[in-house]
Formats: sequence, C-alpha cells, structure tokens
Amino acid sequence: MKVSVDGTKCEGHALCAGIAPTVFEVNADDLAVVIEESPQEAVLSEVRSAASACPTMAIVLDED
Ligand code: SF4
Repeated sequence: MKVSVDGTKCEGHALCAGIAPTVFEVNADDLAVVIEESPQEAVLSEVRSAASACPTMAIVLDED
C-alpha cells in the first residue's frame, strides 16, 4: 500500500497522527505529513482507520 495526503484537503485535525502515529505526523503548518509511505502489514489496519476517520477525506490509499 502507498499512502499520501492531499494537502489541499487536509485541515490539520491530527486524527490521523493519533490513530497511526508511525505513519502520519502533523507539521508546524498544521498539515499532515506521511512519514512512512509504504507501511508494514502490521499497521495497515491503523492506516485504513485513519483514512476513514479523516473528516476531509484527505488521506489517499493506493492499494497494491
Ligand atoms: S485527519 Fe485528515 S485533515 Fe486531519 S491532519 Fe490527518 S489528513 Fe489532515
């Protein structure tokens, strides 16, 4: 899976970083940054939960 964030949609709520902290962090500009673009199998459920929880649907998951 490849993970990315659409910076035009992200509003910096940080829900993603709370749910999947090894994959997302929120930078000083209140934008989510993907710190692990190809997450390990073990965290994929967290990543999917974060994508579902994002209020602006800014998280893009490219399933392999
Ligand atoms: S939950 Fe969505 S809107 Fe909030 S920081 Fe993460 S990607 Fe951005």
